[in-house]
Amino acid sequence: MDAGLWNSPVGRPLDGEGASGRLTIDLAAICRNYGKLAAMLAPAKTGAVVKADAYGLGAGRVGSALLAAGCRDFFVAHFGEAMKLKPHLRDAGRIFVLNGLQPGSEAACAQAGIGPVLNSIEQLRRWRSAARNCGRVLPAVLQFDTGMSRLGIPPEERPLLRRELEGCGEIEILCVMSHLACADDADSRQNADQLAEMRKIAAEFPGFDVCFANSGGIFLGAEYHHVLARPGIALYGGAPSGGGANPMEPVVRLDVAVIQTRTVAAGIPVGYGGTHVTSGETRLATIAAGYADGLLRSLSSRGAVYYDGIRLPVVGRVSMDSMTVDITALPPGTLSLGSLVEVVGPHQTLEDLAEAAGTIAYEILTGLGHRYQREYHH
Ligand SMILES: *Cc1c(COP(=O)(O)O)cnc(C)c1O
Repeated sequence: MDAGLWNSPVGRPLDGEGASGRLTIDLAAICRNYGKLAAMLAPAKTGAVVKADAYGLGAGRVGSALLAAGCRDFFVAHFGEAMKLKPHLRDAGRIFVLNGLQPGSEAACAQAGIGPVLNSIEQLRRWRSAARNCGRVLPAVLQFDTGMSRLGIPPEERPLLRRELEGCGEIEILCVMSHLACADDADSRQNADQLAEMRKIAAEFPGFDVCFANSGGIFLGAEYHHVLARPGIALYGGAPSGGGANPMEPVVRLDVAVIQTRTVAAGIPVGYGGTHVTSGETRLATIAAGYADGLLRSLSSRGAVYYDGIRLPVVGRVSMDSMTVDITALPPGTLSLGSLVEVVGPHQTLEDLAEAAGTIAYEILTGLGHRYQREYHH
């Protein structure tokens, strides 16, 4: 039985040989987060954004868990990601490539049954000739720019697009979509502006389903839901909106191994550049993860890890493969080689760690890397 993400004993040793730490990924919690969003969205459908290897957590594992939870629409960033994900979905899920149809990938994309998100008229034309070449109707999503200036068809090209689509029987448009730039900020006026533009597009291109909301958008209210939503971060336990309590269940836990402890006198420099100098006798532990493991250098002398709920501040600069924490607050002998300290867990959420690093949960998750022993809970 699952001991629960928060209840597994922090000191349980690593199984692997020489792993730097344990990254625990709770697939059941991802599915519960999916269920929570799906309940909010019904009767609208809930897709899942699994780009960047499902925000670093493993797109294959996450994709097949979400498929079992009822998800059928999966979004990745690149065609290569779609190809890697496809075998995990057993032909039951649809995959869309958010970054668009890259030149040269048309035939492979058509062959694999993957739906590109068409971000320009030029991409539509290339997809249309791919459909002619293979003699089949091909699926696609049309993306519009409603005010982010990142991807999608700009407003001034919509009349031309309408003409292009007339009699374009080769392409089945599964939905029209756009992306919110400020969905995590419910007070931003840009949300309502983008919604108004999305509604205009829906009226100009009638008969197509609309796909609009990311995680934050789902929490902006039912008028943002439309037919299909595309949450990412909320599935993985990140906060969909800034401020207030995070309504999502935590999904990851990260414990990192102690690789050396020492006691130093007052006045001793710690780490590269000697940026921290001890103010009194100090007990230190060096742990086996650094900026190459996603513990950003901006955590230097700012972040902390926890042991048994006790805060252990990072002292000095974070190194590539290690960092040093002040363990003076713990009774002597508590930590030794192989002990694990909590980096993300019950005492420090993903959001807490991101804030300490001066970034967002997305960047922390996608940066965690592959040197930790990974454990999936079902
Ligand atoms: C990444 C992304 C999403 C998911 O956003 P979250 O904020 O993680 O929910 C949805 N749509 C598009 C176009 C994206 O790029």
